[in-house]
Amino acid sequence: MVKFCSLSSGSSGNAVFLEYNGTSLLIDCGVSCRRICDMLRQIDKRPEDISGILVTHEHSDHIKGISVFTKKYHTPVYSAQNTFENMPETNAIAKDFQRFIISGNEFSLGNIDVLPFSIPHDAAMPFGYAFQLGDKKIAVATDMGKIDSDVALHLKGSDLILLESNHDAQMLIDGPYPYFLKRRILSEHGHLSNDQAAKLALSLARTGTSRFLFGHLSDTNNTPDIVLNTMISSFEQEGFINGKNIDIAVANRYSPSKLYTL
Ligand SMILES: [Zn+2]
Ligand SMILES: [Zn+2]
Repeated sequence: MVKFCSLSSGSSGNAVFLEYNGTSLLIDCGVSCRRICDMLRQIDKRPEDISGILVTHEHSDHIKGISVFTKKYHTPVYSAQNTFENMPETNAIAKDFQRFIISGNEFSLGNIDVLPFSIPHDAAMPFGYAFQLGDKKIAVATDMGKIDSDVALHLKGSDLILLESNHDAQMLIDGPYPYFLKRRILSEHGHLSNDQAAKLALSLARTGTSRFLFGHLSDTNNTPDIVLNTMISSFEQEGFINGKNIDIAVANRYSPSKLYTL
């Protein structure tokens, strides 16, 4: 059985839990070690049982707790060599625990088959991840400035996707952020808007994806209600009704999402 849960999502910190056939892992560890452990306990999991941490990229909202977690639980960390090299000193991970992986090269972490793939974001070597879990597929893709055909291809065929829906474009443009930051977020190496995420999600729903968890919401330029309403209304136009033939949810900023079982 597959278990999946977003523990924390957004610029305040990201972490995802995935379990399959006795192998458990984290994708990112962007809140303090103490909070990660608390949230794992909330879903009846133990930090000692985590076999590895996959890092998407070196921004602090993805690695904040990783150094302490690794020291405490001796957990190997997987990411691009470039990503390790660009981690700030405070988040550094001992060489013994570093495992280098390459975009497009599938590998096994215990019973979980992991495929890292490149995503467009302003980091050294940012990755999304696709997981093959028996006959199920799950993908995690946040922190993307645009959707290119390569990313869409890696997400295709997923049963469940954690997808970024960072901002409402108009709220961002009208909002308080300084001009340079607005430009960065809207750029092709920034973050996905609700409309971009909806468009991608709909195309994936047409090819069979039925569970969508939208995450990495901006605290300033978005709300969970706006995301949910945007998604529900665009899906309804094509006959996808939330709770009936599609499952749409928004990942919580500070607490675990529901625990998906597949
Ligand atoms: Zn980032
Ligand atoms: Zn981020």
